Amino acid sequence: ARAAALETAHAPVMARDGRTIVVAANVASLAEAHLARERGADAIGLLRTELFFVDKTNLPTEDEQVAQLEGILSAFPDREVTIRTLDVGGDKDIPALGLDSVTHGFLGLRGLRHSLAHPEVLRTQLRAVLRAAASWKGILSIMAPMVTTAQDAMAFRAAVADAARSLEGRPHRRPDHIGIMVEVPACAVAFDSMAAHVDFVSVGTNDLVQYMMAAERTNASVAAWYRPDHPAIWRTLEWLAQSAGGKKVAVCGEMAANADVARRLVALGVTELSMAPSSIPSIKAILRAQLA
Ligand code: PEP
Ligand code: MG
Repeated sequence: ARAAALETAHAPVMARDGRTIVVAANVASLAEAHLARERGADAIGLLRTELFFVDKTNLPTEDEQVAQLEGILSAFPDREVTIRTLDVGGDKDIPALGLDSVTHGFLGLRGLRHSLAHPEVLRTQLRAVLRAAASWKGILSIMAPMVTTAQDAMAFRAAVADAARSLEGRPHRRPDHIGIMVEVPACAVAFDSMAAHVDFVSVGTNDLVQYMMAAERTNASVAAWYRPDHPAIWRTLEWLAQSAGGKKVAVCGEMAANADVARRLVALGVTELSMAPSSIPSIKAILRAQLA
């Protein structure tokens, strides 16, 4: 069954209503990008760019980031790649940034908040993305992590436009889509007022669950409260799907790789599931059997 699932993994999954369900990969290295392609990923739904920053004593230069991004983009030459800007703080430490656990804890200056406080780091990263995609033929999507308010989403969009302007006269490419991750309860609950400011959203349930359940994802002593199956989570996912106004709703948290969860998400109207490459063949096979 495993071999058969691998063989058919490269075909797309169609829902009964004719929509394509994109089964995408979460990728955090070039090796994972290659594995994702091999396992039949339709796209990269989440590129965790922290990989360019960890294990370094200094921040990577723009040119270094361009070179690494080009490698990953070329593994998916004609598909959509969704690049997430730097997501630091909480569970994600970057030694070169000198983060302290109080200022940059789970409720602190992390994700997009850190980027907005360090605009030069964000601008370098955005310029690297736009340059790396200059002659690449896929669909380029950029998204920000840990977005809380509509102002956050607007500031991110402005930063992308600013980076593009700064590259005028040099080879670069504007993104096809600018989106956000939904990970913060305020963003999720007020999503009807956020949707107008974004082209798509990707729900980061790893963080959304910890914030909604008030149970840190890394704290084993509260693991019993970290419940992706809680009605509060499912009501929120349903609300997001309903209030997206036709914009793409993807789910890229670990729970999307669970067969029952994947089925329920598709039934709610989610059209992209992004997961570890190893889960892709079986989830595609399960969805195909269920939707046939
Ligand atoms: C998430 O929070 O669900 C997510 C996909 O991002 P990360 O696990 O990198 O925080
Ligand atoms: Mg997250």
